Amino acid sequence: MRILVFNAGSSSLKFGVFEGARGEGGETRQLVKGAFERFREGACAFALEIDGVAERGEAPHGDLGAAIAAVPGVLAQHGIDGIEAVGHRIVHGGAEFATPAVLDAPTLARIEALTPLAPLHNPANLHAVRLAQAVWPDLPQVGVFDTAFHLTNPPRVYSYAVPAAWREAGLRRFGFHGTSHKYVAERAAQALGQPLARLRIISVHLGNGASVCAINLGKSFESSMGLTALEGLVMGTRSGDVDPGAFGYLQRQLGLGIEEIEQALYSDSGLKGLTGSSDMRDVEDRAAAGDAAAQMAINLYAHRARKYIGAYAAGMGGVDAVVFTGGIGENSASMRRRICDGLDFMGLRLDFDRNQSVDLAGRAAPQIQSYGARVAVLVTETAEQLQIAREVAAHLSRPEAEVRPIPVAVSGRHVHLAEDSLKALFGPEYALTIAKQLRQPGNWAANERVTLVGPKGRLENVAILGPLRRRTQIEVSRTDSFALGIDAPVRDSGDLDGTPTVRLIGPHGQLDTDGLIVAARHVHMHPDDAQAMGLEDGQMVSVRIGQGERALTFGHTKIRIQPNAFTEMHIDTDEANASGIGPNWVGEVIEMEAHLGA
Ligand code: ADP
Repeated sequence: MRILVFNAGSSSLKFGVFEGARGEGGETRQLVKGAFERFREGACAFALEIDGVAERGEAPHGDLGAAIAAVPGVLAQHGIDGIEAVGHRIVHGGAEFATPAVLDAPTLARIEALTPLAPLHNPANLHAVRLAQAVWPDLPQVGVFDTAFHLTNPPRVYSYAVPAAWREAGLRRFGFHGTSHKYVAERAAQALGQPLARLRIISVHLGNGASVCAINLGKSFESSMGLTALEGLVMGTRSGDVDPGAFGYLQRQLGLGIEEIEQALYSDSGLKGLTGSSDMRDVEDRAAAGDAAAQMAINLYAHRARKYIGAYAAGMGGVDAVVFTGGIGENSASMRRRICDGLDFMGLRLDFDRNQSVDLAGRAAPQIQSYGARVAVLVTETAEQLQIAREVAAHLSRPEAEVRPIPVAVSGRHVHLAEDSLKALFGPEYALTIAKQLRQPGNWAANERVTLVGPKGRLENVAILGPLRRRTQIEVSRTDSFALGIDAPVRDSGDLDGTPTVRLIGPHGQLDTDGLIVAARHVHMHPDDAQAMGLEDGQMVSVRIGQGERALTFGHTKIRIQPNAFTEMHIDTDEANASGIGPNWVGEVIEMEAHLGA
């Protein structure tokens, strides 16, 4: 499938043409890389690369409209035809867009409504969409959102501790550069030869804009940008983290208004505010020539990035790989060095020579850590447009799915025991007795019960489900985890490494075991249903439950296909209460979400 991708800003238009397989798999190849930049009176800079041949110069286009209108001519001139879809980078998708979206009129209106969240970026993105619709009225136009990847961030990460009315007005963290972080994490996992879903990765994107992202087992867990693209790292012209108390202080001391302060934080801060230049190459050259302000800026820049790496390693409970990308991350060996220096204590150490001789040709992702260091460090070029092309192809190739209702079952708190736990709790010779068969073939509820104890409280009479498993797993609701006083993570069944410990008490004895989780909601699915509905094992979907006043759509629900499964969605008691569910309710898959990788 041949896809034209646009990344439109207020003063530039970058574009690319990509050829890739339909769907998720297969290589996606870039055929054309182009840019119209620095629009001014009737002219702009122009760069084009086709088949490894680059040309540069001036073009007679003074704005976005003229530049987009010129693209068909540029492509025709180089014999590039057969475009089947147009992909657009959309910076802010708010909390609404977790997947790419076809940009029809209602969708454009929804994006338009998000403009207050990205007043600089979204209007340019939308303008480009409307211009492209006029030039290619018959092609599907698909938006891919910078924020989408981060919608997996948990509430403790995306919430600000501010008054309820502000949070209700939409004040929360989103995070950006999602397309880049997602691509980079997938590329790193591929280079390491390990499934993304098993790795804890910290992606460090250092361009004119800059952000760090913690990608925990394939999902974005946290990133350093927040409500807007201002929070976090020191950037070219943006400040990154500043105490919000600065607003009051500057108003009282310098008489500045909110807009002036905001404008300065976006445009006159960061490297520019510290040194007068927003360009890291300049700043590094000046520092080398002895300029004290440039030296301090570099130290501050590196310190902030290092601090975020440490914080995110702590947030994920460890880190397997750090990946550098963006103009500075890709090209500045000395900045990578400064950021990583002093992180020996967490197993992160660079190899001097490997760091100096990074070669990124052919989308390589070389490793630059010292031999034997516990944490891998990689460098790779970001490829946001390529990632957009892949996502557009995948989105447009989804099969037409049949809608089948899915019965919903509510799981109360329960325990799956391993043999050693059974012995400790019930005695060495004890065998569980079956109280009733469950709908999933081979699974049953036992007559026996256990008690769970945490630092804050205990839960009595907790059900045991059989048969025995290899590892003991304790599934509770979020409310239960507060009652116990233990922060249980949301996990898939069986994914128990690093889970917290809880005390179990049985009639024979007690034991302390890890394995306490809040079960990630999921759908057990028979292969026939999966095929009819166009779903794959591991696919994430959104499921709508109920029609009434508490009707609720559950995002991030995993499809688990098993040969003899009884098709049924499992939610916990908190989720059931939130959706006001009644007996024999069914859900309906209304949206497929992006894949998480292997
Ligand atoms: P954008 O975020 O606009 O896509 P880039 O990812 O191209 O920006 O990053 C631009 C930054 O990368 C600039 O600060 C530039 O100075 C820096 N950069 C590019 N090459 C080098 C280099 N060799 N050494 C240090 N910094 C570099």
